Amino acid sequence: MTLSTSLPLLLLWTAAFFLGLTLVGLAIGSALERWVHRRVWSLPIPATQLAHELRGNLTFVAACVVTLSLALHFQWARCGAESLSRFALTFVALFFGFQAFYYALHRALHTHALVRFHRHHHESRVTSPMSGQSTSLVEALGWMIGYVALPIALSYVAPISLYGWLAYLAFNVVGNIVGHANVEVVPPADLLWVQSTVATVFTFHALHHARWTGHYGFSSTWADRLFKTEWRDWPSLHARVWAQKPLESLKQRGELRP
Ligand SMILES: [Zn+2]
Ligand SMILES: [Zn+2]
Repeated sequence: MTLSTSLPLLLLWTAAFFLGLTLVGLAIGSALERWVHRRVWSLPIPATQLAHELRGNLTFVAACVVTLSLALHFQWARCGAESLSRFALTFVALFFGFQAFYYALHRALHTHALVRFHRHHHESRVTSPMSGQSTSLVEALGWMIGYVALPIALSYVAPISLYGWLAYLAFNVVGNIVGHANVEVVPPADLLWVQSTVATVFTFHALHHARWTGHYGFSSTWADRLFKTEWRDWPSLHARVWAQKPLESLKQRGELRP
């Protein structure tokens, strides 16, 4: 496939890519909710939530398909010869770059001017795998800065690996969907506070949906810690969830970390 030749073919490829990843994420997330008996919330999900989330998912996937297809068709990113090191460096740069970008985007979406575009995602107070990509069009386009514009910008620092970029997108799409499952899969650990700096627990983002403020990072806590937007009671709530005692109220509070 020559990337610069056929936009319709690219649209088909990227549609298959993002729809396939979405289905994989939904399948893994649903399996976890079925088989892991550590629910974050014991609260019911409103009957109307699924249709709302389905609309958001279709909007989000459409934004992904169109923007990535255009970027590949017009070769906006400088992609170098594939090698293991270029693949790994691209993946790692996007892993940390997206974390920083997402924190900034998410905080911006909670400002008075932009919060109207973020309400769609927050309709889901108790989340499920379907909640992950449930966004408005404006929010989805914001995500595309991280999915597409960020790799393009990085490619002007050094040529990136196309496969590393696609691998990171696969990781992010599936991780975002699975990470919204209403279960906890990460056990408490002596160094959980440290470990969550690069890979956080599911309860962390679940609390953002319940409380609206704080926890603007998704897959890590470092930015929330740096900018003091971290709830200090999350480890005790996480420990409770892990002990198979789901949280019973969106207003539930835990013991503060000393
Ligand atoms: Zn939010
Ligand atoms: Zn969310």
